[in-house]
Amino acid sequence: MKKTNNVKKSKTKIWVVKDKEKDIYWPSKEMKKKANISDEKIYEEALKDPIAFWAKMAEEGLYWFKKWDKTYEENPPFFKWFIGGKINASYNCLDRHIKAGKGQKTALIWVPEPTEEKERFLTYEELYKEVNKFANVLKSLGVKKGDRVGIYLPMIPEVQIAMLACARIGAIHSVVFSAFSGESLKARLIDANAKVLITANSYYRRGKALPLKQNADIGVEGTNVEKVVVVKRADIDTSMKEGRDFWWHELMKNAKDYCEPEQVESEDLLFILYTSGTTGKPKGIVHETGGYLTQAYWTSKWTFDMQDDDIFWCTADIGWVTGHTYACYGPFLTATTLLIYEGAPDYPDWGRFWSIIEKYKVTIFYTAPTAIRMFAKMGEEWPAKYDLSSLRLLATVGEPINHEAWMWYFKNIGRERCPITDTWWQTETGATLINALPGIGPFIPTVAGRPFPGVNMKIVDEQGKEINWENEEGGYLIQKSPFAPGMLRGVWGDMERYKQQYFSEFGPNVYFTSDGAKYYDKNNIRVTGRVDDTMKVAGHRLSTGELEDAITSHKNVTECAVVPIPHEIKGQTPIAFVVLKDAQPSEDIKKEIVAKVVEKIGPTAKPEQIYFVNELPKTRSGKIMRRVLKSLLLNEDLGNIMTLQNPESVEQLKKLFSQK
Ligand code: ATP
Ligand code: MG
Repeated sequence: MKKTNNVKKSKTKIWVVKDKEKDIYWPSKEMKKKANISDEKIYEEALKDPIAFWAKMAEEGLYWFKKWDKTYEENPPFFKWFIGGKINASYNCLDRHIKAGKGQKTALIWVPEPTEEKERFLTYEELYKEVNKFANVLKSLGVKKGDRVGIYLPMIPEVQIAMLACARIGAIHSVVFSAFSGESLKARLIDANAKVLITANSYYRRGKALPLKQNADIGVEGTNVEKVVVVKRADIDTSMKEGRDFWWHELMKNAKDYCEPEQVESEDLLFILYTSGTTGKPKGIVHETGGYLTQAYWTSKWTFDMQDDDIFWCTADIGWVTGHTYACYGPFLTATTLLIYEGAPDYPDWGRFWSIIEKYKVTIFYTAPTAIRMFAKMGEEWPAKYDLSSLRLLATVGEPINHEAWMWYFKNIGRERCPITDTWWQTETGATLINALPGIGPFIPTVAGRPFPGVNMKIVDEQGKEINWENEEGGYLIQKSPFAPGMLRGVWGDMERYKQQYFSEFGPNVYFTSDGAKYYDKNNIRVTGRVDDTMKVAGHRLSTGELEDAITSHKNVTECAVVPIPHEIKGQTPIAFVVLKDAQPSEDIKKEIVAKVVEKIGPTAKPEQIYFVNELPKTRSGKIMRRVLKSLLLNEDLGNIMTLQNPESVEQLKKLFSQK
């Protein structure tokens, strides 16, 4: 990677400092002073009595119409929080802020993709009005408490409005990523048995208005969806089915602007959301209200350090859990200003994200390693053109972040002034559970950090016994009871799968994440990838995360995936798929890559074979699908690849193998 001395160094505040000895970082004095929490004692205090801790948090963070009778109850693998408590998510995101005098504060900044179109600012008061009106619209369409409402919308304000409106009347939303096909939408609408669908006629992607309604029409065919509400996002021909389809703006015209919030039970469901499908068929993860909101609130406050003067931008699509918790509930619960962007990161050019940060003075920026690697590949000259001095905190989520990507982000976006908090979590956990807190640190490249206060995350061996922090092999990442309040309460319509998937490996008292991990030190955890992807080579356990980290340390490698194949003598052996930058495939590069692996891990980890590819198969949320690579290598059935973002990559790989 080229030197970064052409990057404008900012004279503004410094939020992070490098450790004198190690390759780790600490919050600066300035950050410690500003942060919502900077006293490390919180960890110990919370774990002494997690139930009491979460009770205090729920009380302090949220407004309850009625306080709960009992804080926690479990009959593993089932558990409940705040039993008997009455609450409403939209009241907590809106009404209470307006009552507290924050009605004029900007709740949402919406940046459309077309550069000639104006952005939209919605104050809390305006958002509140829209939500109330749409809640009344839903009621008029016959939606009742407990009904499922499908939401198939792009990143436009109507998506947050629709979600909060569902929450207001106690309906359960199920958001489906707008870039999913009609068939993928249909599968989810059928599974959730949705009654109403909210969609848009279009959205902009790379300058084109895409015909989203056409997909929605395929999606609702053959389901129990009775009514479809359509946002008019672009002026394109849209077919509307009489009696079934209604324009959003027409229904809103006459809707009353107040709707009494439904006082739901804490354990009533707030939403269903399907997982990314990296490992197979997506699971309909079920989240309840009070516990989820408690965790969304406190992780927003402490992990993202959201404050009154912040502009928070989470680039995740609303179709993923990251979008739910940090591009809707979390920022609104904490009365923060949230920014969302409709379009592609490369429209009109690769500077778009950085121009948005500059223009709207974003202070906290949250994205995924896959995006960072892509920006790194495009070159540091893009961010270098912009003033990014408003930033004070960076964050990532989705996959283990390799050292190279971490450093690129740190230097080129944070300009060595901002901490990076690597947030580990899952659709199932509802909110981030392992991460460094900005006021406490440390920030360690490739290490997610510490379990959030009050969350009992551990690493265990194959027998389920907790491993010592000095154990270098690592093990399985699990959660012990009392389970965190924001955890899933089930798999929609399939409680057997809930038990089987999460609570069978180590018994019903232990939630199994399916991820492998090891301790970096006494407190900090490094997530090393999915357990399914872990390999055992000549008796040594190797994780994809570590191997990929070693390979991407080669200056010409932007991205790579490692998968194991069976080996007669060693048991298993790693195969690497590598995407290059500024270089042509060659035997020399292969040798250099192998040398990197030997240097960083050891000779056992040497990849048996290295394939150079243009791109890696990824899910629509941008995660590498190693499973597909493995099946291709072993000539097996590819299984469910409905969630694949780039099917062309599979074709390219097939060709590659047929040449062998
Ligand atoms: P499926 O469960 O359907 O296979 P998925 O696991 O990709 O899909 P998500 O819930 O979106 O669905 O992703 C959670 C997973 O992403 C985690 O279990 C972990 O493997 C990975 N992950 C998320 N954040 C991080 C992180 N900061 N570091 C390492 N891995 C992460
Ligand atoms: Mg998963």
